[in-house]
Amino acid sequence: MNANTRTHTAEEVTLATLPSGVDLTTTIHTYDGAEDGPTLYTQAAQHGREINGTETLRRFHERLPLEELSGTIVAVPVANPLTFDLVSYITPEEFDSVNPNMNRIWPGDEDGSLHQQMAARLWTEVSRADAIVDLHTGSPDMYPHVVYREGDERSRALAEAFGADLLLSEQADDEAPEEWHRRGFAGKLRVAAAEEGIPSVTPELAHNKQILEDAVEEGVEGLLDVCRYLGLLPGDVPARDQTIARNHLGQVTADGSGLFRPEPGLEVGQDITEGTPLGTVYEPRTYEPLHEAVADRSGILYALTREATVTAGDQLASVALVREE
Ligand SMILES: [Zn+2]
Repeated sequence: MNANTRTHTAEEVTLATLPSGVDLTTTIHTYDGAEDGPTLYTQAAQHGREINGTETLRRFHERLPLEELSGTIVAVPVANPLTFDLVSYITPEEFDSVNPNMNRIWPGDEDGSLHQQMAARLWTEVSRADAIVDLHTGSPDMYPHVVYREGDERSRALAEAFGADLLLSEQADDEAPEEWHRRGFAGKLRVAAAEEGIPSVTPELAHNKQILEDAVEEGVEGLLDVCRYLGLLPGDVPARDQTIARNHLGQVTADGSGLFRPEPGLEVGQDITEGTPLGTVYEPRTYEPLHEAVADRSGILYALTREATVTAGDQLASVALVREE
């Protein structure tokens, strides 16, 4: 950067080319401060139905005091235009039959499948950054939280700066359970970036498809506090009471297919004990109860599905094991 200039640019970039020859593009916002400083990369909507991240970045754009910025912020509000247009989590087979979930293939491959190409283009921005905030939202009713790699203290500090009440550590590599490997979690942007030594977090800003004011506000304040923590903006990050828990890969899942009625009075964010009733899956025609779901551990209930039509194996609830309060 030239001295004493502060700029915002919005650049349209090509992520990949579709079979028809149409370019798949997105917009990358770059904010350069007058003073030197670190680079923050943030993106939203890899999973296109997770639109609270996109709304968070729009409001962050409005509120960012560019005149106070030292360093660079790179923001991508729609990282995956394909899933955004489909209001979906993954892409249909026609677009990427090999890697339907974009958040399993980082750092991508410019000669690979469509999602791999898209990730490879964005990775050129990611790899230049000093910190990563990859904005997501959960699919069921979810308590907002921030995920970081367990044992990675720089990522933990970034998560603490973002400031949600609940921080969830996730075990990786050799420490991770079999499910982490089976589900390809090593290919998450957060995990791949942390592997390169870039502190990296995933805020999960409540559930999807709806703009939720509280979750968006938490996202904007979180990004501004991350900027203060990194020295991109002046000011201190306030001290907070945060609970550290380990996320729950082996969630409580439905034993049968039917309608799931959550236990009345249960709210995400509350402490529950092992054996707490979570709800009932029942046969909608005969009313026969198929599964009386209970918590398989004591901890914080951070997700409880409200999408009542479930098939066997669907996630009903997630309970995080408390590590530090
Ligand atoms: Zn997501």
